[in-house]
Amino acid sequence: MLSIVPKGMGWIEVICGPMFSGKTEELIRRLRRAQIARQRVAIFKPRIDVRYDENHIVSHSDQRIPSLVVDTAQEILDLSRQHDAQVVGIDEAQFFDNDLVDVCEQLANEGRRVIVAGLDQDYRARPFEPIPQLLAMAEYITKTLAICVKCGAPASRTQRITPSKELVLVGAADAYEARCRRCYEPPENA
Ligand code: ADP
Ligand code: ZN
Repeated sequence: MLSIVPKGMGWIEVICGPMFSGKTEELIRRLRRAQIARQRVAIFKPRIDVRYDENHIVSHSDQRIPSLVVDTAQEILDLSRQHDAQVVGIDEAQFFDNDLVDVCEQLANEGRRVIVAGLDQDYRARPFEPIPQLLAMAEYITKTLAICVKCGAPASRTQRITPSKELVLVGAADAYEARCRRCYEPPENA
């Protein structure tokens, strides 16, 4: 598929799904292959997500790849240009604002391959910006599913198992679990 793309052509790939569905693993896999092919790769994550490590993207299965921490989408644009990255990887896209959509567009228009991973739904199972807009702009879309912890079915939803009503509550297995459509319980007052 990708080998027939003309040289210097950019595009956007989105990897989305609930927590524990392997988004970060898939992002790391694609970025490692680009590095093996000796492409210039720039990898970013938002400062809000320094749960496991400041200098790496880390999956729940403890795979990791070095990354830069940024506060804004604009920094992704600036640093990718500075490094003249051929491939740009972005994890936890839901922690950036909608400026990320424009930034990904510009990077792709400049001929870069942009790979974005993030949650497509929030804890209330509603579309979680900016991923929905990025899905509309992207050339390639991958939806990953986890395993429902209740019944073992493919899981598309993230169940918050703590009472917080914040949209953004950074946590992992202590605060969230993967659930299928049937086992997911919408939080009260959501
Ligand atoms: P994401 O980025 O989507 O949150 P990760 O790539 O960080 O996912 O982690 C995926 C890994 O999480 C799986 O390979 C598995 O080891 C682990 N895992 C833990 N709970 C689950 C679950 N309920 N379903 C699937 N994988 C799970
Ligand atoms: Zn289930």
